[in-house]
Amino acid sequence: MFEYAPAPESRSIVSLEPTYGLFIDGSFVEGKGTFKTVNPASEEVLAEVALAAPEDVDRAVAAARRAFGPWSALPGAERAKYLFRIARIIQERSRELAVLESLDNGKPIRESRDVDLPLVAAHFFYYAGWADKLAYAGFGPDPRPLGVAGQVIPWNFPLLMLAWKIAPALAAGNTVVLKPAETTPLSALFFADVCRQADLPPGVVNIITGAGDTGRYLVEHPDVAKVAFTGSTEVGRQIARSVAGTGKKLTLELGGKAANIVFDDAPIDQAVEGIVNGIFFNQGHVCCAGSRLLVQESVAEELLASLKRRMATLRVGDPLDKNTDIGAINSRAQLEKITELSEIGASEGAERWSPPCELPDRGFWFAPTIFTGVTQAHRIAREEIFGPVLSVLTFRTPDEAIEKANNTPYGLSAGIWTDKGSRILAVADKLRAGVVWANTFNKFDPTSPFGGYKESGYGREGGRHGLEAYLA
Ligand code: NAD
Repeated sequence: MFEYAPAPESRSIVSLEPTYGLFIDGSFVEGKGTFKTVNPASEEVLAEVALAAPEDVDRAVAAARRAFGPWSALPGAERAKYLFRIARIIQERSRELAVLESLDNGKPIRESRDVDLPLVAAHFFYYAGWADKLAYAGFGPDPRPLGVAGQVIPWNFPLLMLAWKIAPALAAGNTVVLKPAETTPLSALFFADVCRQADLPPGVVNIITGAGDTGRYLVEHPDVAKVAFTGSTEVGRQIARSVAGTGKKLTLELGGKAANIVFDDAPIDQAVEGIVNGIFFNQGHVCCAGSRLLVQESVAEELLASLKRRMATLRVGDPLDKNTDIGAINSRAQLEKITELSEIGASEGAERWSPPCELPDRGFWFAPTIFTGVTQAHRIAREEIFGPVLSVLTFRTPDEAIEKANNTPYGLSAGIWTDKGSRILAVADKLRAGVVWANTFNKFDPTSPFGGYKESGYGREGGRHGLEAYLA
């Protein structure tokens, strides 16, 4: 067993204060209470963060409301300048923000540095480019912003989810009150500092920290005109109920149980890399994770042998080590959920396998795991585990693959691995999933819309569609 000890030189890139306030009207202010955010790799407290009470939410929404008039009246080209500035500052501070994200979230630094942060900057650049083109882009003769957007995000991609929400909202002329998740509040607060550095007018972006009650109060606030939520299907349902009949515009990005379908003509090595990326990227804390592998029976044995060999090379450990493939599970609660569903998988008769793997003593860790012999009746085939756990099912014909892939209450994403272009088109057409990747997985781009069917939510973020959600 070894102790988690972050590399001192990478840790020192981030200078953390002992306490953080709420970012309201361009300043950091105290909230009514506080809570602690911990490093999931060490269980060390990183900082004490303000817990926003209803009156704090009121202050933030009032600030956003005051800022809305002048901000929405700015020519689009002026709003674009702020967004370009934010994008450039994010690039300049990307090492610091990447380390911070890995400290608070537990994700490998290679991912926060090479995936999350470049995408965060790309979203601000992309939507900056839209800000002065809204009038000519087919959004109607007079596209208008909605007002104050209340945005609530989860802990798996804290900065990236923030970028998905804040960049289009501001480009379209809205102002924002955003609440990050309670286990990962820090990067949103550092983003507030980026806004100050960019001289963004006070009140245009407000960041309030807290737990579910703070989020509920924000989305139910009568002066919030647009609600954007990313998180669990359960909370999404509650929000849909509370917003119904209020006239607020709502987008929901919820859970998933994606099928990654491997046909017998797929290049096996490439498919194995895609499967590993699909389920072990970000510890499997990914709404569109390829958490169900559907493999054609005739190649199942060969593919599983190759997958196990590849899994044995995965390094689990210190998120700040550049060689780490799988970092820490974000919280004790999430670790318990993953452990419980895995126990259920084993007790229901699926066969569990993990490579030999030494896990640190402290912190929250889970070895990469696959379950074979899974049937559609198993809970691990139906429920979102949101961890590094893959359920393997087999199929014989394309129709059976499609039937199994669609046999889920979710409909966020799917993957197809085959050599035949015609098969990609035919199968993709029948999959009830918002995103279908072919011979790749977990590829994101600000120009592409993203969102789900069924219990995965509604509305789209990203691309031109992402702006529609913020325009009347
Ligand atoms: P969660 O729903 O528990 O929390 C998400 C956010 O909502 C947090 O900020 C939380 O404080 C807040 N919240 C909790 N209760 C609330 C309430 N009643 N009203 C308003 N806000 C409330 O989800 P989580 O555990 O943080 O995130 C994991 C879930 O998010 C997974 O199910 C995952 O699939 C989903 N997710 C979806 C996407 C997507 O784009 N579809 C992306 C990332 C994560």
